[in-house]
Amino acid sequence: MSDIIRMTAAELGEKLRAGDISSVEATQAHLDRIAAVDADVHAFLHVNEHALAAAAHIDDRRAAGEDLSPIAGVPLAIKDVLVTTDQPSTSGSKILEGYLSPFDATVVARARAAGLIPLGKTNMDEFAMGSSTEHSAYGPTRNPWDLDRIPGGSGGGSAAAVAAFEAPLALGSDTGGSIRQPAHVTGTVGIKPTYGGVSRYGAIALASSLDQVGPVTRTVLDAGLLHDVIGGYDPKDSTSLDEQWPSFAAAAREGATGQVLKGLRVGVIRELPDSGFQPGVAASFHASLGLMEAQGAEIVEISAPHFEYGVAAYYLILPAEASSNLAKFDSVRFGLRVTPDGNPTVEDVMSATREAGFGPEVKRRIILGTYALSAGYYDAYYGSAQKVRTLIQRDFDAAFQQVDVIATPSAPTTAFRLGEKIDDPLQMYLNDLTTIPANLAGVPGISIPSGLAEDDGLPVGIQFLAPAREDARLYRVGAALEAALLDTWDGPLLDKAPTLGDIRNRQEGIR
Ligand code: GLN
Repeated sequence: MSDIIRMTAAELGEKLRAGDISSVEATQAHLDRIAAVDADVHAFLHVNEHALAAAAHIDDRRAAGEDLSPIAGVPLAIKDVLVTTDQPSTSGSKILEGYLSPFDATVVARARAAGLIPLGKTNMDEFAMGSSTEHSAYGPTRNPWDLDRIPGGSGGGSAAAVAAFEAPLALGSDTGGSIRQPAHVTGTVGIKPTYGGVSRYGAIALASSLDQVGPVTRTVLDAGLLHDVIGGYDPKDSTSLDEQWPSFAAAAREGATGQVLKGLRVGVIRELPDSGFQPGVAASFHASLGLMEAQGAEIVEISAPHFEYGVAAYYLILPAEASSNLAKFDSVRFGLRVTPDGNPTVEDVMSATREAGFGPEVKRRIILGTYALSAGYYDAYYGSAQKVRTLIQRDFDAAFQQVDVIATPSAPTTAFRLGEKIDDPLQMYLNDLTTIPANLAGVPGISIPSGLAEDDGLPVGIQFLAPAREDARLYRVGAALEAALLDTWDGPLLDKAPTLGDIRNRQEGIR
């Protein structure tokens, strides 16, 4: 495996800056890696045919003496929920097959302006509905740690691309955990920023009050570098926060010194007992807490009594918003149109198109959402769910009076097998038990690798949550724990992942 693809974005940025390698070389190395492994992993729905030209352009600008961003020339994978002018954007759905957007999502425009090289569009559950990427209309992505297992979802493509060294950086979106849960099962870092911290303009909406775009990377510093590029006020997003954010890369660098753990109050939720988690996940979580305690952090038990109702409230609010957001796929304005034989009415065309273009999970949620919003049920379902949402927000407010961050395992289990939960929506939904409350409350969350589960040897993530607007705190704490964990591991966690070649050989051996 070439050294280039093993580098973090920060390292690659420095080498590019120093002129030790060119962006064309860096981009080519990642394209070669994609060509070598993506038939197995299927992280990408589309590989950008313009990537090398974009890289050459950055090399020219650098040669001309332009002052470029610290990660200019570094390749970036983009979740297919984000619209792009030069590559199709499908959101994992047949209804948008081949759709070319007339504009770039703000985060994509900012990435291009900072000199990042769009490498391609990554696979996802259709319209970001799912926790395994099995709901993609284009076939599942596989976990680079074990190709028989799921890479998480909905952003399994972005997480797998980063974990398989196909891209050093990726963009994801997180409505209920789609950045953090894939990070957990693939041994990568994922951040859901404060609601309003990163523009949603050009992110194909799932549930507008919950959606947030964020970084997927191999290190906390890389996430900070990418967040610095994509974040900040955007007048095109009416929910964008108009404020000055600190540098998240600087916060990560500060955190890596380890000093921040001294006196840090880390909240652990009483109502989330170990019994709800796979033993290896709970053990890894407690080991990380122990490490933080050894460095001076104080572990404080807190109560968040409504946290456990998050999933139930979410599965009313999300389908309600999704059913409304997806109404625009009406066979007229975007993508697919199916015209039945005979003399079809507009309604016939619309219904045939939606029947053919949407997969089963999308249909399930549209039905749930329209039901929850219908006259006579609105107060009982949607109204109640909104009240629970407020109670969860109050739980967070009370907790953050007592602690600086809250810690939880990022998900209940390690990566499950493909096919294991696909026919059981409730089991699939319960995956997001610990990630959903952050979306309901609008607070930021980070998942960083905490090690390998002792029971099955697969990656486990630890999640930290902070008050709204305190994303920098997550970078400091995440980088501090990351540094402490690195000292206990023998090199980065992802170095322990079986190489994809080994996985292939092993599977062939079994057959
Ligand atoms: N898995 C969750 C769901 O299916 C979260 C999705 C997301 O964050 N986009 O809704």
